[in-house]
Amino acid sequence: MPLSLTTLSLVASPVTLQEGLKILERDGYCCQYCGLDGRASFENALVMSVDFVVPRARKGKKDPRNLVACCRPCNAIKGTRVYANLEEAKAFVLKNREALRKTWGSKTARPMTKSLAASPSAA
Ligand SMILES: [Zn+2]
Repeated sequence: MPLSLTTLSLVASPVTLQEGLKILERDGYCCQYCGLDGRASFENALVMSVDFVVPRARKGKKDPRNLVACCRPCNAIKGTRVYANLEEAKAFVLKNREALRKTWGSKTARPMTKSLAASPSAA
């Protein structure tokens, strides 16, 4: 059972820590859907995961050819649908991320005020 970085506890996972690290190494710790770089910051590293391209729920095999580095948000967006290949899954994830971004922009994002925009040091 691997150690979950988010909860710092042991969690049941279909991929062992060793297996997961091999996939992350192979993919350069970058999400194969959105390109998020797990080496760029600790926050990014915390959301990195390994995705079954063909989901386990759809009898996807635990084979390196069926596993890719993936951030948790992309993993959640991808869901358990079945795609013809990684490219098709990637197109779906990116399209839906963009739709979610638009919704976020119109409903959740803090409106950018003039003073904040003018002084990037203000946090
Ligand atoms: Zn991603």
